[in-house]
Amino acid sequence: MKEKLNNIMEQASQEINNVTTYSDLEAVRVKYLGKKGLITGILRGMANLDANERPVIGRLANTVRNNIEDLISQKRQIIRNMEMEKRLKEETIDVTLPAKGGVLGGKHPLTLVLDEIKDIFIGMGFEIAEGPEVEYDYYNFEALNIPKDHPARDVQDTFYINENILLRTQTSPVQIRTMEKNRPPIRIIVPGRVYRSDEVDATHSPIFHQIEGLVVDRGITMGNLKGVLEVLARKLFGNNIETKFRPHHFPFTEPSAEMDVSCVVCGGEGCRVCSNTGWIEVLGAGMVHPKVLSICNIDPEVYSGFAFGMGLDRITMLKYEIDDVRLLFDNDIRFLQQF
Ligand SMILES: [Zn+2]
Repeated sequence: MKEKLNNIMEQASQEINNVTTYSDLEAVRVKYLGKKGLITGILRGMANLDANERPVIGRLANTVRNNIEDLISQKRQIIRNMEMEKRLKEETIDVTLPAKGGVLGGKHPLTLVLDEIKDIFIGMGFEIAEGPEVEYDYYNFEALNIPKDHPARDVQDTFYINENILLRTQTSPVQIRTMEKNRPPIRIIVPGRVYRSDEVDATHSPIFHQIEGLVVDRGITMGNLKGVLEVLARKLFGNNIETKFRPHHFPFTEPSAEMDVSCVVCGGEGCRVCSNTGWIEVLGAGMVHPKVLSICNIDPEVYSGFAFGMGLDRITMLKYEIDDVRLLFDNDIRFLQQF
C-alpha cells in the first residue's frame, strides 16, 4: 500500500509538471483528488486495512494528498504568470505604426450660410439679437398688428401651448422685444428657429429657421431697405444677381414688398427651380407699421424703420441647390460631408 501511494505521488507530480493549461490542471486534480480520485479511493478503503497499518497508511495518504494539493496550487500560479506574460506580449503597442486617420467634423450647411449672412450684416453695422422660442401670443401676434381673426393665427399653423403661450411662428417677436428695451437707432438681425404645424414634405418642415432684420432711426426710407437687401443678395449669390421688389401685404409693415432674385440656377433663362419664370422669391420686407412703432413707445412721427424676414433653410437650399428640405434635418453624414 505504501508503495502504491509513493507511485501515485511520483506519477501525480510528473503529470502536474507537464500540464500547461488550467483545464488540464483541473483534469489532473479530479483524477487524484476528486470524489472518485485515486487518493480519495485509498482513504475510503482504510476500513479494510489491518488496525496497526491504518494510522501509518492514513498519515501517508494525507501527506500525499497535501503534497499534491500544494503542487497543484503552485502550478496554478505558474500558469497564471505565463498567461499574463503572454497577454502583455500580445498587447504590446507598436508606437512606430502609423495612426488611423481621424474624421474631421465640419459645419452644417445651415450654419455655413447663417455665418455668411451674419458677416454681411455685421459689415453693415448690424447687431445680432435673439429671443425665446416659447413665446407669448402678445409678442408673436398682437404687438405685430396681427388681430385675433387673422388667418396666420389659425390653429392649423400655430403650435399653441395654452391660450397665451405658443411656439413662435416667426422671429418677428424679437423686433418687439428689442424696441421695448432700446431706443433708436436700432439695427439688428435676428436669426432663430421657428415652428409651424406643417406636414413634412420636400419643401415643408414643422421646424425651420428665419432671419429677421430691423432698422429704426430718423429718416429711414424704402430706399434704405432696397439698398441693404441688394447688398445682401449680391454678397450671398454673386455680383451678377438681379433683384426685383413686388408689392405685398404683411400686417406689421406698410408698405410691404417681397424681394425676388434672378434664378440662381438658370440665371434668369427659366428652369424647373424657378418654375420657368427666371425669378425666385427670397424674402418679405416693408416699412415698419406706425402702429407697431407706437406699441413699442417709439414715436412714428419722429422715427421710421424697415423690417425684413427670410427663410434660412430656403436660402441654403437655393445656394447649394438642395432640392429637399428634409436633407437639412436628417443629419446623414454622407450628405453633410459634401459641404
Ligand atoms: Zn431658373
